[in-house]
Amino acid sequence: MRKPFVAGNWKMNTDSRTSVELAERIASGSMDTSQKATIAVCPPFVYLQAVAKALSASSVAIGAQDMYFEAKGAFTGEISTAMLKDIGCIYCLCGHSERRHVIGETDELINKKVTAAIGGGLLPILCVGELLAEREATQTDKVVTRQLKEGLSGLSAEKLSAVTIAYEPVWAIGTGLTATPQQAQDVHEMIRELLGQMYDASLTEEIRILYGGSVKPGNAAELMGQKDVDGLLVGGASLKADDFLAIINASI
Ligand code: PEP
Repeated sequence: MRKPFVAGNWKMNTDSRTSVELAERIASGSMDTSQKATIAVCPPFVYLQAVAKALSASSVAIGAQDMYFEAKGAFTGEISTAMLKDIGCIYCLCGHSERRHVIGETDELINKKVTAAIGGGLLPILCVGELLAEREATQTDKVVTRQLKEGLSGLSAEKLSAVTIAYEPVWAIGTGLTATPQQAQDVHEMIRELLGQMYDASLTEEIRILYGGSVKPGNAAELMGQKDVDGLLVGGASLKADDFLAIINASI
């Protein structure tokens, strides 16, 4: 049985006051539900420590939105796994679509990040998903297969258990368009089958596959009702405590 996992990606939003306020409201509002679901929030780097403090009495985990694969040294502007661990991070998004398509990250770079995250004791959330043009050209499975094979390249079965996958169709992120529950289920099922071929079917039964893309309180339960949808990665709606808490409630 896979425990539901709801993660909030705050992206480049909030400030020093609102990040702490949001964290405090999520912590207090999830007291009753936090045993039934894994809950995490991914604030901007500069607010990670303040948010970690605000969440310290709760079981809401913190994650980073990104990291660099090198351990230390002359990499101006970058943040290492050890630094994130040092301030209490548990999770790290790797290959979010905005990093792929706005910043220009490649599958090869994302694979280095996933590998370094696990090596350093972080739990990566590997994000995959197709562009609208790719869906319209019926390339979804091909694109997601490539992103998974390259993103997980060289990873042993033992290390795979540290990974969460997030399927986020790019056309549904921040657009208000959501994949239908059936569209999400179809890709999630394909992902689980592919992981089964790459590794071992029994092992991949344990891997959580999150859906992301304009998740709201009103569509969370139906998405979570799909057999292979194990959780939700929430952008915009995670910035409103009431909405994020409603999504958590709809997921358990
Ligand atoms: C995301 O940032 O991962 C995301 C899914 O955003 P939104 O929920 O706003 O579409």
